[in-house]
Amino acid sequence: MRSMLFGTNWKMNKTREEAKRYCQVLKTGLSEIDDSVTLFIIPPYTSIDILVSELKDTKIKLGVQNIYYEKSGPFTGEISALMAKDAGAQIIEIGHSDRRTLFNDTDEIIARKTRASIDNGLIPLICVGENEDIFNMKQSISYVRGQVAMSLSLLEKRIEQELWIAYEPLWAIGTKGKPASPDHIEDVHQGIREELYNALPGWNISKIPILYGGSVNRINADNILCRRNVNGLFIGRAADEPNQLLELIQLAGGNK
Ligand code: PEP
Repeated sequence: MRSMLFGTNWKMNKTREEAKRYCQVLKTGLSEIDDSVTLFIIPPYTSIDILVSELKDTKIKLGVQNIYYEKSGPFTGEISALMAKDAGAQIIEIGHSDRRTLFNDTDEIIARKTRASIDNGLIPLICVGENEDIFNMKQSISYVRGQVAMSLSLLEKRIEQELWIAYEPLWAIGTKGKPASPDHIEDVHQGIREELYNALPGWNISKIPILYGGSVNRINADNILCRRNVNGLFIGRAADEPNQLLELIQLAGGNK
């Protein structure tokens, strides 16, 4: 079976107690999940220690939803990549559309955060995606390729590092979103893959996972995941409950 990633970002949701309960239920279903599946969870900072302790005997990877790119200093309210690592994160989510639209994370800031993650040995999970106008103008691929190129522009290219990309079209995310079609997703992922070849010459690009996120659910998951350039799913609402996430993985073919 080819390797697949499934993960969720909890955004600004779940108390510590809720996080603990989520992990406890999730653990009961892990023995059914195939070894080809990598599972990751990106909680708010306030519960990462709970996940570190509850999931310590599992292979689930943990992430944070954001960092600041400086190493330390007077940046009230922010945390550095090193602090995220120290807290137990292996992944740094960068450039989610909430960050880009509500908190003004520009492509330049995203490039700096990507560099800071890599410099600290963490996996940047770089989110890209076009808005509805760009989609309607049929400019999705060139726009997203531009975002990918800019995100990677500050990397030290000589040293190959682990990084993940998530394609999350803005018009597909959240309660008002509608899932992108598997054909559209595959076309954009193919464009991202080509851009990675340009941006990271000499790297083993086939090893870089490209995930899709945006209204993934138990009905559409397998039709998206079976596309050649789709290596995983980044799930919001449909992973709010651990049993839903386990069921979705099963329906998408990730069970033993
Ligand atoms: C998201 O917000 O990144 C997301 C993928 O959400 P949903 O699955 O709920 O559309």
